[in-house]
Amino acid sequence: MECLFCQIVAGEIPADIVHYDEELVAFRDINPQAPTHILIIPKAHVASMTELTDKQQALMGRLILLAKELAEKEGISERGYRLSVSCGADGGQLVPHLHFHLLGGRKLDDRLG
Ligand code: AMP
Ligand code: ZN
Repeated sequence: MECLFCQIVAGEIPADIVHYDEELVAFRDINPQAPTHILIIPKAHVASMTELTDKQQALMGRLILLAKELAEKEGISERGYRLSVSCGADGGQLVPHLHFHLLGGRKLDDRLG
């Protein structure tokens, strides 16, 4: 398995991990685009949004609630933040393991892309 984020989950590549449980892992982006830039991923390999099925419905709900909790811990809840996912080539997805970007701590661009 050569997937970068699977290797982070397995502890084979170091990362600044801020959350780790049975199903989800969150770590700081290596090239942060904002004062808070955390990536939240399912531990099990899912290549992208397009691979999701009904089976992951509860998992995705938990991931979004974890994003909310992490935003509170980071102290960005009040001023606001963005949770975003890139999917595929046009979406600008570089790492083929589903990940949600939690961004905050500065006023983000009005444009989405
Ligand atoms: P995306 O364009 O949505 O696929 O974003 C991939 C993100 O992964 C980028 O923001 C990268 O900075 C980030 N990234 C790449 N390698 C690492 C790493 N080893 N640790 C943490 N973040 C990484
Ligand atoms: Zn993976």
